[in-house]
Amino acid sequence: MRNQLNHYINGEWVESTGSETIDVINPATEEVMGTISSGTEEDLDKAVKAARSVFPSFSQSTKEQRIEWLEKIANGYEARKEELIEVMTDELGAPLSISEEIHYEMGIGHFKQAIDSLEDFSFTEDRGGHTLMKESIGVSGLITPWNFPTNQTATKIASAIAAGSPVVLKPASKTPFAAMILAEIIDEAGLPKGAFNLVNGSGSVIGNGISSHPDIDFVSFTGSGEVGETIMKNAAKTIKKVALELGGKSPVIVLDDADVETAVKTALSNIMTNTGQVCSAGTRVFIPQSMKEDFEKAIVDLLPTFPVGDPRKEGIATGPLVSKEQWDTVQSYIEKGEKEAKLLVGGTGKPEGLETGYYARPTVFTDVSNDSVIAQEEIFGPVSTIITYEDLDEAIRMANDTVYGLAGYVVGKDSETLRHVASKIRAGRIKVNDGDTDFNGPFGGYKQSGIGREWGDFGIEEYLEVKSVHGMPSS
Ligand code: NAD
Repeated sequence: MRNQLNHYINGEWVESTGSETIDVINPATEEVMGTISSGTEEDLDKAVKAARSVFPSFSQSTKEQRIEWLEKIANGYEARKEELIEVMTDELGAPLSISEEIHYEMGIGHFKQAIDSLEDFSFTEDRGGHTLMKESIGVSGLITPWNFPTNQTATKIASAIAAGSPVVLKPASKTPFAAMILAEIIDEAGLPKGAFNLVNGSGSVIGNGISSHPDIDFVSFTGSGEVGETIMKNAAKTIKKVALELGGKSPVIVLDDADVETAVKTALSNIMTNTGQVCSAGTRVFIPQSMKEDFEKAIVDLLPTFPVGDPRKEGIATGPLVSKEQWDTVQSYIEKGEKEAKLLVGGTGKPEGLETGYYARPTVFTDVSNDSVIAQEEIFGPVSTIITYEDLDEAIRMANDTVYGLAGYVVGKDSETLRHVASKIRAGRIKVNDGDTDFNGPFGGYKQSGIGREWGDFGIEEYLEVKSVHGMPSS
């Protein structure tokens, strides 16, 4: 049992001013794995005050000093690799291999990338008629979701430190422990007191508190569109800048020259990874009508290569969903899908032999209409939809016919067509033939998938204000 009731404020682990607690459930066992405090407004105020006090000096720290802090954090993160992997498997239900190869790796990737980006970053530029200065935005409030416990926290924290912006982090209360390990790592890295603060608690108290706080200058939020909207409304009262990384319903466009097996592998890995709890999951798969029979057969054949089960067992690719609430949501979408489309594989209920734990059956629907509920709403589970198209223009039109625009995937051979489709999908990140991820590639959404970009140099820019100075005497 992890009972970690303290918040990290002003360089110290401190008791909560309230007595309410939140239980953290292991989704594979349905048992309580630990407890955190449900922070109060007073806790948040203390953290904001600490961040505000250090702002004048932290924002003036040198690039070299920030690189040194980030290097220490990266080293500390690597030193606690095993513990981070274990804790993410327990709190999120991610199979050990996914905790290691995806969650752990993304966290370290962001810290290392921030160091690289900072090395080449110019905070002052002579632009002919004026001098441009980029200055820390102030105190930043970071609110993160449960589905990527180290990725979301690491990208925000690394960018904020690189920009010299002190932060107050509120991690998701379903998965707080990886973030608390991160806080211990940051503590050991010797950042100035107040530069990093962590307050645990509910969205309604700490989350709302951050977005409404008059002494917070910027809110970086990752989570659902509904909460994103509330944050924007609250932030508007003090004209606070917000960056929102929200949901998606991303298309996978399979070209007619694609190898069917490769295309199916791409489609499945981009829906099954993290049990479909991925904002950029490829949830709508567009295939040429002529490929339908072969594609469906390959889906049925290859789905068992993503076995569902105990995330601590070797060979398991798909763990449980994070919570009972998430399981119920996914079930209701599968029920809707059964009415709207043809069930190709999977369905409602739990996989055989997995009665304990929030396990869902990997499910693929075919004969799906792009305007149906299962093709338009974010399900956030291992549920895929297959939609056929007659020609590429129709595929692109349907791919863009969504309120979202976070990501897109295209699979095929002809390079000109691949480029054409990549340029036509209205989304912030496109993967061609499942290409490798570059940590310097900006991440963020068009349309209702959000505002702003994270990762690499674009991520650092979010935590900066720009000032133009005219008539600056030359030195
Ligand atoms: P959520 O919006 O319910 O919660 C996200 C965070 O916001 C949590 O820390 C929560 O406690 C907090 N919160 C809740 N109410 C709040 C309020 N009123 N004010 C401020 N904060 C509040 O989302 P979730 O269920 O944790 O995560 C799943 C969602 O996140 C999905 O929609 C997914 O697409 C999205 N997501 C987006 C990205 C991205 O980068 N675009 C990445 C991961 C997840």
